[in-house]
Formats: sequence, C-alpha cells, structure tokens
Amino acid sequence: MAPDAVSGSSDAPPGAGDVAGPDGEQVRRTENPVDGPLEWIDNHCHVAGSSDLEGVLADAAAAGVVALVDVACTVEQSEQHPALLAGRPDVWGTVGVHPHEAEPDEPRLGRLAELLDEHPDHLVAVGECGLDYFYEHSPRDVQRRVFAAQVRLAHERDLPLVVHTRDAWDDTFAVLAAEGAPRRTVFHCFTGGPAEAERCLELGALLSISGIVTYASAGDLRAAVALAPLDRLMVETDSPFLKPSQVRDKGRNRPALVPYVGQKVAAVKDVPVAQVAAATTATARAFFGLPGGAP
Ligand SMILES: [Zn+2]
Repeated sequence: MAPDAVSGSSDAPPGAGDVAGPDGEQVRRTENPVDGPLEWIDNHCHVAGSSDLEGVLADAAAAGVVALVDVACTVEQSEQHPALLAGRPDVWGTVGVHPHEAEPDEPRLGRLAELLDEHPDHLVAVGECGLDYFYEHSPRDVQRRVFAAQVRLAHERDLPLVVHTRDAWDDTFAVLAAEGAPRRTVFHCFTGGPAEAERCLELGALLSISGIVTYASAGDLRAAVALAPLDRLMVETDSPFLKPSQVRDKGRNRPALVPYVGQKVAAVKDVPVAQVAAATTATARAFFGLPGGAP
C-alpha cells in the first residue's frame, strides 16, 4: 500500500515518528492481544529506514513476530536494504518499484536484477509493484510497463512477486495474464471483495490481509477473507500505515501489531487464533523461502 495510506486509517500523520511518541519518548511495549506463545510473520512492512529500528524489532519479537519482510518501493530503498538488514537473521528484504514511483527508465529497473545477484541472502522477492489508478502518480501506460518488467524479473529469478493494486483490477489481471503470473504471487494489502478474491485464487495467488480488515467499512474484504481458504492467506501490517482499529495508542503502525490482524482474520473465519498464526506463518515461510519453510 505504501507510500500512501487509504482513507480511514487511524495512523498518526506522516512524520510523527515510528514507535516513538510525540516527544520522541518510546511508547509502552505493545500489548499482545492474543494469549499464548504464538508465532507470526509480518510479510509486508516498511520499517528498515526507521530511526528506531532496534526498538521496532524488539517490540515485534516480544509480540511473537518471528520474521518480517521489509518491502522496497524504490530503487534507492532496494539498494539500501542489504546494509540495513545485515546481521538481522529474521528480517528480509525485497527489490521493487512501487507504481507511484514508476518511471520509463529501463536501466534503473536493471539495477534491481543486479541487487538480486549481489545480495541473494537478504533479498527474497520482487515488489512491491503493480498498478495504482487511484492516486495515478505515474501515467498508466508507464505503470503497466514497469509492472510487467518486474513480473518478468520474478519469472527470470523464480522469485515471489509482491503485487500492489488499487482501482486497477482489470489491468492488473491483464498484465499478469500477458506475462504469466509467477508461481509465487501475492496480492499484498488485499482490499477486494469476494469476486476479486476468486480471480486471485484462480491465478494461484495468495492474499495478504492488512489492518484494513479491522475497519468498520471493510465488509467486502471480510467477505473475501471468509471465502478464501486459510492456507491461501498471509497477514501483514504494511506499517507504518494502516494501524489496526483495535489499537488506540499514539504509536504508528508497526510489525508488533500483526497479531491484531490475525485476531480479526480468526474472528471472520471463526477459527482459533492459534490456527491462523500457525497457518499464515507456515505459508509465509514457504512463500518467501525463509528458513524453516518448505522449499
Ligand atoms: Zn507496502
């Protein structure tokens, strides 16, 4: 979803700091809403550049987040990831260009492939990439070209593809049909309803559910979550955007809040939270090829 949050987010305004409160003081350690030692993976967040990355990661670990995937939106972020992630065994990165940042500049996209060659240990997916006709910060034809190039890169490297789509379902499916959907494709921050969910599932893709599932206005999304098999779902925070609505503290969204997303998914599917944690964590490990996952 980044770099823009959707309306209805309860986030602090951009620039308010990450976990830190208004005075730069740390907010209290995040309270885990779920009893028991559950393990979660936040498969989509944007925290590598946080001023207090250590605090963000410690808070996440205390909430049972055993791994997270930090997603790049620009070539620059893709380049910065390996240094930011070095020495952090449970944090993984991606290379990608968000549709907001799409430019008709093929050499810059070529840089993504070089980074994958240089840092295969840290970089586990291509994206986030896709189409955003809601904000339309880049011309649509440029967005489609830059998206298609990244779909091809995911194919070439047999890497997972992280898709962002907003108000652009038909063209998103058209690009994926033309290029072929990579065998590991996820619609991140999925916000469609049952019809879109069915189209994604038919492609063989996964749906990643964010804190939007907790918003009062997200009835269609909850219907999609109810319909999708649990083993086709992952959970994410998309932090620092889209804080789950149950969380009332002053901090911005953060990986430690991913259990709140899982809690809502469990309520919608009427299954135990532990089942959602176990299933989504196993799925994320396998999808991104993280240690402990099926190949
Ligand atoms: Zn994102």
